[in-house]
Parts: sequence; structure tokens; C-alpha cells
Amino acid sequence: MRLKDDGVSRHHCALERRGDGIYVCDLGATNGVVINGKRMREMERRLEAGDRLRIGSVELRFEIPAPAPAPVPAPAVTVAFEAAKGARTQVLSPAQVEIARSEAGATATVGNLFPAVSNARAKAKPATNDRESARRWAPLAALLGFFRTTSGAVTLGVLIAIFAAIFWLMLTPSPLKQQQATASQQTTEDKRESEWLRSILLGGAEEQPKQEQPAPQLPDEPPPQVAAPQEDEPKNDAPIAPVPFRARGGVRIITGFEGSARGEVTEIGENAFAINMHGRERLFFLFKVEGAAGQTVRFEFRNVPLMSWTTVNPLYAYVEDLAALPTLASEPVENPQARRGRNGPQLPDTRGQPWHYIENVSTRGGATGGVYSFEQTFEKDTAFVAMRAPYLPSYNDNLFAELQKHPLAKMVKLGATKEGRPLWLTQIGEAREADGGAARATVLVYAREHGNEHDTSFVAEGALQFLLSDTPEAKAIREKYCFLVIPLLDADGCASGVYENVVDDFFWGSPGAESLVLSAWFKQWMDAGNRMDIVFNLHNSVSNGLPHLMAAEFEPRRARANHCVALNTRIAEDLKGFSVARNPYQTGYSRFRLGGWLQEYYNALYMPYEINSQEPRRHLTMREMREMGAGMVRASAVYLESEMGKELFDANTAFQAQRLENWKKFGASLKKANALVAEAKCRQRAEAEAKNTKKSP
Ligand SMILES: [Zn+2]
Repeated sequence: MRLKDDGVSRHHCALERRGDGIYVCDLGATNGVVINGKRMREMERRLEAGDRLRIGSVELRFEIPAPAPAPVPAPAVTVAFEAAKGARTQVLSPAQVEIARSEAGATATVGNLFPAVSNARAKAKPATNDRESARRWAPLAALLGFFRTTSGAVTLGVLIAIFAAIFWLMLTPSPLKQQQATASQQTTEDKRESEWLRSILLGGAEEQPKQEQPAPQLPDEPPPQVAAPQEDEPKNDAPIAPVPFRARGGVRIITGFEGSARGEVTEIGENAFAINMHGRERLFFLFKVEGAAGQTVRFEFRNVPLMSWTTVNPLYAYVEDLAALPTLASEPVENPQARRGRNGPQLPDTRGQPWHYIENVSTRGGATGGVYSFEQTFEKDTAFVAMRAPYLPSYNDNLFAELQKHPLAKMVKLGATKEGRPLWLTQIGEAREADGGAARATVLVYAREHGNEHDTSFVAEGALQFLLSDTPEAKAIREKYCFLVIPLLDADGCASGVYENVVDDFFWGSPGAESLVLSAWFKQWMDAGNRMDIVFNLHNSVSNGLPHLMAAEFEPRRARANHCVALNTRIAEDLKGFSVARNPYQTGYSRFRLGGWLQEYYNALYMPYEINSQEPRRHLTMREMREMGAGMVRASAVYLESEMGKELFDANTAFQAQRLENWKKFGASLKKANALVAEAKCRQRAEAEAKNTKKSP
């Protein structure tokens, strides 16, 4: 949202939707955020209905309108802000006031610079049901409330302007939508696909698939926070003793190792176990099963958000060591035979990998707190069972130890996480042409901003494997471009087996350990004259609803959105046989993520993606997940060769030249500041200078 007010910084604050409400996050603006008359001291705070939010001289009131009757229970939250009486008023479009539901970008940034481009999602579909129409009219309702509490001719004038603006916003077709129409010649099949996705995302008409399902889940949404205080959780740095549960049938369930489930396991019958899923544990599980040979074991997960779980098929593997490289080996299979899970999805032939899907899945109960259960007969004594094939930090360490021997992979240890785990990056392809030549277009692929999102590391690893392969295509790509790959960004969260939020704090007001390490390295990379052109940030949705690959967010500025569309189209063209959404979940920025920060300060094209190996209709093998990473690399190269790619390259060249220029002027006094502060202040000073020059020519 853009607020035209001198007291509002460029990126003043962010409004983020989480599982338990809407949060306001201070982005380190000079004037800060004032809530109910008091300056907000903390970095972020959950908003309560009726909270008054002062940003500069603009006061906004936070309201949650009563929910309209919805066909299915869905975690929709519509937020209206009402400009307070007596304060300067702002017109907010429906798209601006809704905090969208996507996890990877459930954020609206409030500031005074960026033009308010309407959210494609908000406009893409006519109001087809009550909830949709309630959402559209919520701001109007808020403004009517405003009318009741105010009087005078001035108000009337303001109101006329407001209604005109709303009318205009509602009638104007979305620029993004128009670009999408021209950027890709969609086939009828594609269109049906994207319509289906859109209907699912908007919680609208159910067309296909015709399965009986509760409401589909949105992209990996943070789980609602439970009442249990965080201090109760075991500390990750302390060794966690294995916790065996011995059932009457002799089968034992082991947790308490790296990446394993945290939910309480209780025995409920012969070889039957109940697992109570708490808020933060509801997105992943991993167990070791012992004494299982010849036994049928039943697992019953309670308190499960079934709206995202009904098409989940867990996997099991007979492996000894989850850190060993063969644990995640994936080979092609001749004459593959697909099966179908009892819960509907097509399960691929997994003979080429140690991890196999469990078919026998059933569910009962409500969409938000149901029971999800499955049974599996084991052939061997020891097995692992997981919601997704687990890609653990110790596996990543072993992989990187192996890659260090590879002549084409340059291994960079960026630093350490809060808990002392190494933070690795691999560089493939030179940053510059030989003998101090020009910097090469650079693409960053990073995964696991959220520890529990294992699929994404396979995709990043697939990008690595492809780049290091000896095909002529890979050779040509690495000789022309520079690729940086981080398969595991949040090693601590991954090790603890829960959704963490440690790596989304690129606030210059209060950064975390990892964001300081990462920003310092990338700043140094740019200071050396290198480039940052495209950033892929890989996320993982829970099974129901989303395709194999979907852009979480396109940049809202029209010219930039064009590039997002072009690159996404190349990826969809490359990944034939996968379901790839043509349209993004939404438009927006994620300023406080690594990718959003690189977009903001280095002009990288930011491409956050949701990966889903357990798409409701067809689940993937690990090999297929890796193939998606290869496709992203190939598509990036094709895009960079195109006219569009060259346009981005030139724009970034100019951007970097300006940045280096600014740094020469203002950098001396910022040497001691951390990279987040230094980049922000350097830009601030350059902008202030430019403003002064304009005023007094
Ligand atoms: Zn995520």
C-alpha cells in the first residue's frame, strides 16, 4: 500500500497474515509505527480488532468484518482498514486491504513509494460467491462506517473522490492479467488447469478433481500458534534422547533424532500408535520404526488440519542412516508402473529410490482438527516413515563434503546458523569472464527458508546435479552464466523438525544471525562487482490443492511482472509432464526474506515458488523433484538469452553501476554497519541527495 505522506518511509511497515492473525512488522522506518497512541517498540505485533495504527500522520483502524457464510471452512481472513476520524484519509483498494493467504508472501508492505498496483488475484475473478463478494465490498462497508461518523462538506468531497476511485479500481482490468494473456499462448487445457487452480485458490467453485475433499489447503501456511509457550520446547542444541514407545505387538516408534517428529506418540492398541499433532508440528513428521518385520503397523494422527492432508501419502524406507548419500539416491525406472493410493492420488513407481509411498491412507473428522491414519506392513525390522522424503542437514553436509571434491563446484561456507550448523553455498560457473572481464548474469537458487519443507531441497539439489552434469547443455550454461545454489537455508529449523521462521528477518532494525551472515556475504559479492539477476526462493505446500510448481508471487510493478511471466512461462514450457501454474498465487513483495532483500537492494528478479511433490492427482518421485530444479536452470538460461532477459540484464547493469556510485559517495561512514543497515542507509542518503538536487538546481 502506498500512503502519500511525508512521515511515511519508503518501506515503513509490513502487514503479514499468519496462522493466528494479522501481524504488523516494523521495517525500521525512522518514524516507526504507533499503535493505539504508543510507539511500537517490538519488531512485530499481532493486531487486535479495533487497533489504531498510525503511520506518519495517517491513522488506520484495523477491523475484522464478521465472516460471510462460506461453503467450506477455509482460513480466509479479510481485513479492512478504516481511516480514523479527523486523520488524513487514504483510499485503499480491495486488493490493498486484503492480506492474501499465501505463505510465501502473506504480506503487504506499507510505504510511500511503490505505485499501488492491484492484486491480480483480487481482480481475476468476478464475485461468484458470498465470501468473495463480502471480501470485495468490505472496504466499501468500512468507508460507509466512516461516513456515519463524520460530517461536513469536506467529507462529502472526500467521499465522492473515494467512491470514484473505488469504481475506477474495480473497472480497470489488471495490467498483470493483460500481460499474462499476451505472454503465453495458453491452450484450452492450460486454461482449464489454471482456472481449476484459481478456483481452488480462491475457494470458489469446485470443478475438478471430483474427489470428495474438505477445503483445499493454501500454500504452506504457518501453523496456528498453540497456547503452549515456546520455552517448553526442547532446545535444539541439547542432545535429545531417543524416545522409544513399545507396543504390545513388539513394534517400537523412535523419535528424538535430527529432523524427527515432535508430536507425542502414544500406544493405542497392538502395533497401533496415536500421534498428537501440535501447532508447529502439523506440517511434517518423521519416525523410526523398529521390530517391524512382518508386522502391520497403524499410525493415527490426531488434531490434523485435514483440509491440507487428505491427499498426503507418507513414505517409508528401509535405510540405516538418513545422512548417508544413498538414502536419497534416485535412479530412472524402466517400464514404470503407477498405482493409486486409497485416498485418490496416482503414486509413481518408486523402485528407483529407497523411499516408497504408503497407499493405505484414510481420514475422518473435520477440516481443521481431524484424524489422519495409515497402515503399513513392513518387510524389514527397521524402517523410517516420513510425510515427505527427508532431506536433513547431516545429509546436506555429506553432500557438500562430496561436492568439495568436484572440480566444477566452488564450495563457500558462508558462516554458521544460530545453533552453529554450517551455512553452505555452491557456486557453479565463474562470476566474471576471464581476465577481469564483465560480470556474468547470476542466478541464485535457494531452498528451505522453512525447515519442514523438504521437497524444496531436492529441487535445489536437482539444479546442482544438472549444472555439474556432463551434458553439452549443462556445459554451455555453466560457461556462460554463474549459478549459486543453497539447498538448505534454515538448517536449525530443519534439524528440529518443525516450521521455524528464522530466516525471514532481513529487517535492518532487528536482524537474526542467519540474515546477518547472508546479507554480509551477498553485499560483499556485489561490492566485488558481481551480479544478482534472478533469485529463486523455493517453498513447499502441503498436499491438497496446489500443482507441482506454482509461483507464489510475481512482482507487482508492471514492467517487472512482465519478466516474472516470461520466466515462469519458460519454466512451464520446459517442465512438460508436470503441473505448472501459469499464474502466480498473488503479486507482492517479501522484503524481509533473503530473496526480497536481494530484489530490493540489487534489483534481482524475485521468483518465489511453491513445490508440491504430493499434488492431489499425481505424486512425484525424488528424481522428478530433482528434474524440476534442472528445468528451472534450463529455463533461466533460455530466458536470459531472450530479448526480455537482455532487458533485465541491462537494467541490472545500470542498477549496480548506480549502487557502486552511491557506495563510493556514502560508503566511508557506513563501513562499520552491518550489511542490512549499510545498504539501507546508503540508499537513503543517495535518495535524500537526489531530492535536494531537484529542489535547488
Ligand atoms: Zn514455506
